[in-house]
Amino acid sequence: MRLFECGSLVPGCDWHTRADNDAEIVRRVVDHMRQDHGETAIRENMVDNIKARIVEETKAA
Ligand SMILES: [Zn+2]
Repeated sequence: MRLFECGSLVPGCDWHTRADNDAEIVRRVVDHMRQDHGETAIRENMVDNIKARIVEETKAA
């Protein structure tokens, strides 16, 4: 499972999302940025910043 925590990009934000692929994470984060952070224009480097902060969530079985 892939995990993105918004606080790694926007300090103080505790929103996070999980998905099984990075494209879905990016889509959700872009929605969140628009709705909760007032980012009306999502630049290419924003997508890169998001991707750079997606982590693999490992669970001890
Ligand atoms: Zn946020």
